[in-house]
Order: sequence, then C-alpha cells, then structure tokens
Amino acid sequence: NLQDKLEKAFHVLKGHGQVSEVNVAETLKEIRRALVDADVSFKIAKEFTNTVKEKALGADVLTSLKPGQVLTKAVRDEMATLMGGTASDLDLSQKPSIILMAGLQGSGKTTHSGKLANYLKRKKTRKVLLVACDVYRPAAIDQLHVVGEQIGVEVFSDKENKNPVDIAQKALAHAKANGFNAVIIDTAGRLAIDEEMMAEIRDIHQAVKPQETLFVVDSMTGQDAVNTAKAFNDVLDYEGVILTKLDGDTRGGAALTIRSVVNKPIKFIGTGEKMDALDVFHPTRMADRILGMGDVVSLVERAQEQFDEDEARRVQKKIAKNQFDFDDFLGQINQIRKMGNMKDLMGMIPGMGKMMKNIDLDDDAFKGVEAIIQSMTPDERANPKLINGSRRKRIAAGAGKDIQEVNQLMKQFAEMSKMMKMMQGAGGRRGMAQMMR
Ligand code: GDP
Ligand code: MG
Repeated sequence: NLQDKLEKAFHVLKGHGQVSEVNVAETLKEIRRALVDADVSFKIAKEFTNTVKEKALGADVLTSLKPGQVLTKAVRDEMATLMGGTASDLDLSQKPSIILMAGLQGSGKTTHSGKLANYLKRKKTRKVLLVACDVYRPAAIDQLHVVGEQIGVEVFSDKENKNPVDIAQKALAHAKANGFNAVIIDTAGRLAIDEEMMAEIRDIHQAVKPQETLFVVDSMTGQDAVNTAKAFNDVLDYEGVILTKLDGDTRGGAALTIRSVVNKPIKFIGTGEKMDALDVFHPTRMADRILGMGDVVSLVERAQEQFDEDEARRVQKKIAKNQFDFDDFLGQINQIRKMGNMKDLMGMIPGMGKMMKNIDLDDDAFKGVEAIIQSMTPDERANPKLINGSRRKRIAAGAGKDIQEVNQLMKQFAEMSKMMKMMQGAGGRRGMAQMMR
C-alpha cells in the first residue's frame, strides 16, 4: 500500500548527508509512483512532487535535519495542503439545520447519518431528527430505526409513502413543529451512478434546501471514489465529504485526490461500524497517517472525550481504601467499552492495525466477564471476599460458564486490585486516569 511504498521511497535517502537535486530525484520518483498507485491522478502527483522538491531543496535553513526528515516534512506539509490545510466545520447557523446525505449504496450513508446525529447530539447539544428517505428497501428504513434507537434519536419514516421528496418535506414540518434544530436526511443509493438516482437526490435537495449536503464515500473504492465524487458534485454542488471505512486497508489516495478534484473539503472520516467511530477530518493528521505515523492525536482525543473524570476519581478513592469491588470493575469495563470498539482504537496506533486484524479482541472478550459479574448478588459484588466455593458454583451456573472461568476472573480481579493498590503507592495520584492518557 501507499504507506509501505512511501517508507521504501524514504529509505533510498538514508545515508546521504544533505538534500541535493541528485539524491532527492530518485525518492521523488518513488513517491510519485506511490501516489499514482494509490489512485492520485498523475497530474496531481506530478505537481505534488514538484512542490515538495522546491521546498526540500530550498530548506537549507534546516541543515541540522537529515535529508529524510526534510523531505518527510515537505511531503507531509504538501499532503496536508492538498487535503485542504485545516479542518472544516459544519454550517449549523440555520434553525433547523438541514443535512442531506448523498452517495452510492453501501458507502455508509445510513451508518453515518446515525454517527452524525450522535455527534451533533453530544458535541453541539442539538435536538436531532433522522429522516428515512430510502424508499426502495424496507430494510433500509428498519436499519435507520435500529441506529436511532442505539443513540436515542427520533427517526421520521413512512413505509407507505414511496415519494422521498414528500417524506422529506413532511419530516421538516414535523421538525419545525416539535422543536428539532437539526434534521439529517438519509437517502437511497444505487450500485452505480444512474440518472434516476441523481434526479431523485436533486429533487430532495431542491425541496428541502439543506445547508449541508454531504457526499458519503467509501475510501476503499479508490479511483472510483474520485469519479463518483465528481459526478455527484456536478449534480448537487455539495458542501463536504464524509470519507468512510478508513479503519480498513487505508487508501490514502481518495483523501488526497478528492479535495483537489472537486474542490470540496472532507469534513469527517468514518473509522468503524459503531456510532462513535466518527472523527473530524484533520488534513495534517491524515498526512501523518498516510506517512505511517498513525493518528495518535485523534486516538488520545477520543479517549479523553469518553473518559469520565469524576468516575475515575471516585474509583480512585475506593482503591486507596482497598474497597475496589466488582461493581467498580464493571464500571471500568463500561468505560473502556464507551471508548468504542477496541479494534477501531487499536487500528489508530501505528503498526497495530495490521496486527489486530488477526487477533480477536472484540467486545465479546468482555461479555463473558460481564455475565459472570452480573450473576453475583449485590452483596458479593460489593464484598468479593464472600465468594467461596459454593457461591462460585452458583455464579458459574447462573452465567452459563464453567467454574474455571469464574475462578480465573476471581484471580484476575485479585491481581488487578493488588496492582491498582501498588500503582497508588508508587505515587500515581491519578492512577487509572493517568493510564488512560
Ligand atoms: P448505505 O447503503 O450508504 O446506507 O451504507 P450503510 O450505512 O448501510 O453501510 C454499509 C455497510 O458498511 C454496513 O455494513 C456498515 O456497517 C458498514 N460501514 C459503514 N461505515 C463504516 C466504517 O466507517 N467502517 C466500517 N468498517 N464499516 C462501515
Ligand atoms: Mg442506507
């Protein structure tokens, strides 16, 4: 992939003392080839390497840096510029704010309608209405209802109505009458661009006049993503792009090219199937990610956002008093779970993405533990010392587990309590909270 190829390209430079026209030429050629392979158009790739070359060769002020570093910096800066330079926010000035989701089938419109609703609800404290305008597949309407239920957002739908424009207008009236200040309209897509779909989305667009029309596109589709982005832009003149499925084998090419081809910002990226796997798009971070540095900043931000400081402090006190119990344990598991799918998170750490593919570290790992704890009585949870042999047998039966699994959990719990106590003693005032940072 692009990452490996770029790494190889930089490798060529190692051992040279200075950036010179000669030692940079080969590397730039490699970078250009890597970009084209990642679906960046040849013209853009060429302009890109020309700019990088100018910057790198003119960088004699930075003599203390190695040529590889000079070039990496130039490539990183130029990539970020190509992707728009800075993050681009939604325009939510109008009440209600109307957001229209457009894109091919399977690109992630329904999933990201939900993620966006969740984002607006939490970040901007909006009262959000989701609208189901995919009238061709009843399952699509059900899917949006499932999503709405997960995040506690109302869904407007009408299975009898086959006219998406009419549904959208009725939904708007409903939103205005009931104090909703954000409306997200999920629409139908086809497997390929066709006249009928384009006419339909244009009709909805004209009828509801959204402030934000967002083109949703699967990052895995490579050059097709760019072509589709162009076709939709010709018809809709949308405000921004949501680039989805970046948790998979990342194709940086789409992110790099879309902005320059349609001149529209990428506003969000999707990094998983769960409702919180949505990040604001940061060009510099994406450049880092493409260059293999990993999107560590996003990872840290998400962990911080999700982590409940008050809860951490409360647990802290209990650990200090040696009172950490199974209820606290359960609470900690939920904290971790709130941070999103473990795989999504791990995928953001450089080098981890590949490793995680083969390891099954899903939420299921927690489910067994949760089942066991839930089979304990409140007394047992609050006072784990009570849990003797016969109680273990009962708990195992209740949770549908082997007694060995219960024993193992008890052992883990004892070790964890001991470790926490030790961390406390070692002067880690913030204990768990610190571990999360
Ligand atoms: P739509 O047809 O455009 O509405 O697409 P959906 O929202 O139904 O998504 C299609 C499939 O892609 C579903 O199985 C989603 O769970 C999955 N999906 C959507 N976004 C992402 C993402 O960011 N990462 C991953 N891994 N899967 C996604
Ligand atoms: Mg859908």
